[in-house]
Amino acid sequence: MSKLKQYKMFIGGNWVDSETKKTFETLNPENNKPWALVPEASSKDVDDAVKAAHKAFEGEWPKLLPRERAKFLRAIGQKLRDNAELLGKVETIDTGKLFRETNKQANYIAEYYDYYAGLADKVEGTVLPIDKPNVQAVTTRIPIGVIAAIVPWNSQMFLTATKLAPALAMGNTVVIKSSELAPAVMFEFAKLIEETGIPKGVVNVITGFGDPCGKALTAHNLVEKVAFTGGPETARHIIRNSAENLSEVSLELGGKSPVAVFDDADQENAINGITAGIFGASGQSCIAGSRLYLQKGIYNEFLEKLTKRANKIKIGTPMDTDTEMGPLSNFKQLEVIEKNIKLTKEQGGTIKCGGERHPFSNEGYYFPPTIIECENHNLPTAENELFGPVLSVMNFDTEDEVIKKMNDNKYGLSSGVYTSDFSRGLR
Ligand code: NAD
Repeated sequence: MSKLKQYKMFIGGNWVDSETKKTFETLNPENNKPWALVPEASSKDVDDAVKAAHKAFEGEWPKLLPRERAKFLRAIGQKLRDNAELLGKVETIDTGKLFRETNKQANYIAEYYDYYAGLADKVEGTVLPIDKPNVQAVTTRIPIGVIAAIVPWNSQMFLTATKLAPALAMGNTVVIKSSELAPAVMFEFAKLIEETGIPKGVVNVITGFGDPCGKALTAHNLVEKVAFTGGPETARHIIRNSAENLSEVSLELGGKSPVAVFDDADQENAINGITAGIFGASGQSCIAGSRLYLQKGIYNEFLEKLTKRANKIKIGTPMDTDTEMGPLSNFKQLEVIEKNIKLTKEQGGTIKCGGERHPFSNEGYYFPPTIIECENHNLPTAENELFGPVLSVMNFDTEDEVIKKMNDNKYGLSSGVYTSDFSRGLR
């Protein structure tokens, strides 16, 4: 008998294994050891989940008064608050993210459910101008049906909230597909959803791999919309799949976010922001500020101070409250980072700190804060999203030059400017 914690999927209000009985182990990034066993959804399981959601959509849920649906949203928010510690622990074991962050997260995420509960009965339509007498053109907003919510491993609870809360407020039903890299927290969340008494099938939670689970879900003919957060390669698959069911698709994708520091910036403030931006969550954030442009007048001085700060970051076990950086979430990511660093070094990049696996734990996926000077931003670490604690640093002379450089990347997500010149900051 396996001693691993065992999870089941939540379909149509029932807790089920995969019809194939297939399972997979989910690993603890701190030590690379399996800690839980999770059912792997097959195409048939996906079909069951979508049909359950569709049946619920044909039932009472979309017909409830918005304020009645809002009660369930508020109840979900309250459950999150009441169970913040449990959810935080499970997420930390499954992802390696710091407990001091995951522990607090559920309280913040609960506010999304509160917000959409308040919005549920305030959804407006529009009267459109039309140049025909006796004809009136109006738009009204109605629920569309089954929504597939697909989330990446990082910040799953948050990214689910941004999809689930508005979908439920409007009267849609949802199939959530959690990430195969850290599926556990979503099943804990499903237990809380069940406790609210929400009608069966309104929310379904499954997990599995891109193929067959993600593929079957995004191409299913009863899915009306796919709400996806993840990487651009997966997004391309999803767009192709949505040609099958002509569903709506919304995509929130990756980033290679630039930050500029001008000579006149408050350096201490900039160092705080940059350090949190790239080394927080071990750099595994879509908006991580991973490209740094320093104006030439402060380049050397600033880089030395920043490197000193990065070297002080305390690496350790993610459950310890004084740990500042934990492991990466998975081994594949560590290999991607190593490969990009190797190529960058070969092309002239200079490591200021980090750059090699961290010895904190030989089994875990630990990688230290890494800063690399790059002559230009076409080097691999400066160009590719690494989803890790790696900061590529370049210099610049003028404002026009740095704006061009910041925009010269295939990603666009967030960016930062440090300057004491308020007008320049706004520009
Ligand atoms: P990923 O794209 O590998 O996986 C995301 C989800 O898509 C997972 O649940 C996965 O199983 C599923 N999936 C994989 N193949 C699929 C397919 N063919 N059809 C349908 N679903 C499929 O991303 P990841 O590695 O888990 O997360 C990291 C990425 O997510 C990074 O690029 C990061 O920047 C991005 N991200 C973006 C935001 C944002 O708000 N823009 C937030 C967080 C993460």
